[in-house]
Amino acid sequence: MRSTNATYANLPTTIFETMSRLARHYDAVNLGQGFPDDKGPLDVLQQAANQLLEGSNQYPPMLGIPALRQAVAQHAQRFYGLEVDWQSETLVTSGATEALAAAIFALVEPGDEVVLIEPFYDAYLPLVQRAGATPRFVSLKPPYWRLERADLAAAFSSRTKAVIVNNPMNPTGRVFSTTELDLLAEFATGADAFVIADEVYEHLVFDGASHRSLLSVTGLRDRVIKIGSAGKTFSLTGWKVGYVTAHPTLINLLGKAHQFLTFTTPPNLQAAVAFGLNKQISYFKDLAGDMQRRRDRFVSGLTALGLAPLLCEGTYFANIDITALGADDDEAFCRKLVEERGVAAIPVSAFYRAAPVRSVIRFCFAKQDVVLDAALERLASLRQG
Ligand code: PMP
Ligand code: GLN
Repeated sequence: MRSTNATYANLPTTIFETMSRLARHYDAVNLGQGFPDDKGPLDVLQQAANQLLEGSNQYPPMLGIPALRQAVAQHAQRFYGLEVDWQSETLVTSGATEALAAAIFALVEPGDEVVLIEPFYDAYLPLVQRAGATPRFVSLKPPYWRLERADLAAAFSSRTKAVIVNNPMNPTGRVFSTTELDLLAEFATGADAFVIADEVYEHLVFDGASHRSLLSVTGLRDRVIKIGSAGKTFSLTGWKVGYVTAHPTLINLLGKAHQFLTFTTPPNLQAAVAFGLNKQISYFKDLAGDMQRRRDRFVSGLTALGLAPLLCEGTYFANIDITALGADDDEAFCRKLVEERGVAAIPVSAFYRAAPVRSVIRFCFAKQDVVLDAALERLASLRQG
């Protein structure tokens, strides 16, 4: 057969799919792929069902249905105090993943550089490469995963077209501090670069902290593409409804990419997500509170087992350092863990390219108590060897 596109030909199946398959094969407790195991808010589901039966099932407007675009604009006002014009500054996509693809394809030219902060969500790199850009990496290191000035200075240049920032951050569970966000803003502004802000975990921030959107960081309003996801905000990861907030020129550009990626997103799901985003503040508080409770249950279980959990400030994810267990290869460790102990986790090296960290594995704690307890019970034997 003729050679095909090298970016995809050389790409393995995603680690999430691989670990979920192994989890099924070994009948393991699956704390690998990041998805919650509850049903999601019943009223949002009901809206989707009603709209499916009673609403239109034909192509909705390309940029999204007005109700959802209005809700996205109001959400930015309610949570971040931002004035957003729904008609020119919002766009609905088929998941955050499509928004990322649209942003990268619309902004980047072959020869440009794009800064990625590793460990990064695995979709970023192939998208950047497929767009013909050169990735430049900022490598964060455990246990604190802090953004440092020297690392940013080494990665940014006059060729930097964009930086992709995931905050709160998968897989580290970090929420970047005001100082770190300001530092990023300084470098992005200095390089005249766009900021693709993957904020899918914006409502999963713990311990009384609140999310600071990069859109509201001084000097960034016109260069940030803020991406949210109903998957995370309503615990419905299979829905794949994403939403973008950005300057009108950028939305216009992203719309051009979006029109030939998916063109649009199922109308009943859009309507239900609009209903969801308009919910009372208590819904969003409870979402974070409930997830924080699960984090506490799981992390204190890990601590009790002597498994050295790292700090988790947000997201679905808690990490442990496996060197304390005499291991130095996270991938081999995860394979053995699923085969021999019946617990699926994700090796954090899968999120690296330049300077892989192989000493940390990631667990998803967005699960029922019984599931977390079952996983902890199986992990208990790890300390005994
Ligand atoms: N970004 C990050 C950091 C993620 O963890 C995920 C995974 N859900 C996505 C983007 C993709 O979101 P969606 O399912 O809405 O495409
Ligand atoms: N975001 C999820 C995770 O990090 C996985 C998404 C996917 O499987 N594509 O686990």
